[in-house]
Amino acid sequence: NPTPPPTAEAGRAADGGFSPYAGCKLFRQLPISWKTKDGLAPKYKEMSDIQRASLPHSLCGRDILGAAKTGSGKTLAFIIPVVEKLYRARWVPEDGVGSIIISPTKELAGQLFEELKIVGKHHSLSAGLLIGGRKDVDAEKERVNSLNILVCTPGRLLQHMNETPNFDCSQLQVLVLDEADRMLDKKFKGELDAIISQLPKRRQTLLFSATQTKSVKDLARLSLKDPEYISVHAES
Ligand code: ADP
Ligand code: MG
Repeated sequence: NPTPPPTAEAGRAADGGFSPYAGCKLFRQLPISWKTKDGLAPKYKEMSDIQRASLPHSLCGRDILGAAKTGSGKTLAFIIPVVEKLYRARWVPEDGVGSIIISPTKELAGQLFEELKIVGKHHSLSAGLLIGGRKDVDAEKERVNSLNILVCTPGRLLQHMNETPNFDCSQLQVLVLDEADRMLDKKFKGELDAIISQLPKRRQTLLFSATQTKSVKDLARLSLKDPEYISVHAES
């Protein structure tokens, strides 16, 4: 497993992973569905640096370790490949959980769910926001196996893994850890390890955070496969 280099030129993965779409500047130039393009178009036209640098790779199914400062648009950098992967696989609600996006707080999970609604507007995928503190956990348990994309906090996801009869994530295609540096921190270690141990290893994994995770041990925990290390704010 290679040690991640500290920084990389924007637009190109540090270890030289190649994509014919590496030079694209606009969302509409990407190899993505019209459904996704139509969702993005009213609000988003030009890609931000982290989106330009990572999407050409994440859209080919590669694992990503992406770092870019807060406010740089990391959310779309993982939501677009999640939606495209399931769309290309012709995923339907009956196929169950195809992607899990984990965020450290309810507030962040709520914000990224809003972004998912924009990208998913013209798609027929089902999605749910599973966060703590809501009373309707029993209703959620009925629904959770018919949701294609779960946006969740670690505690609530684990609660479903432990308590929801027949909770099934054996078909998981894409796992996303938002704020990955926080998620890999001591505070979430127990919960995250318990979650990861129940997920299929054969999947795409996307990690995004404000700082680059350098611990090879953390990456091993997540069984990343030959990930692209992408960092778009060289600190010099
Ligand atoms: P981060 O997760 O890196 O902190 P967000 O994904 O929350 O950043 O995005 C920050 C803000 O930038 C959001 O309001 C989002 O709508 C906006 N944004 C993201 N990508 C673009 C883009 N390509 N063009 C214009 N605005 C964008
Ligand atoms: Mg974010």
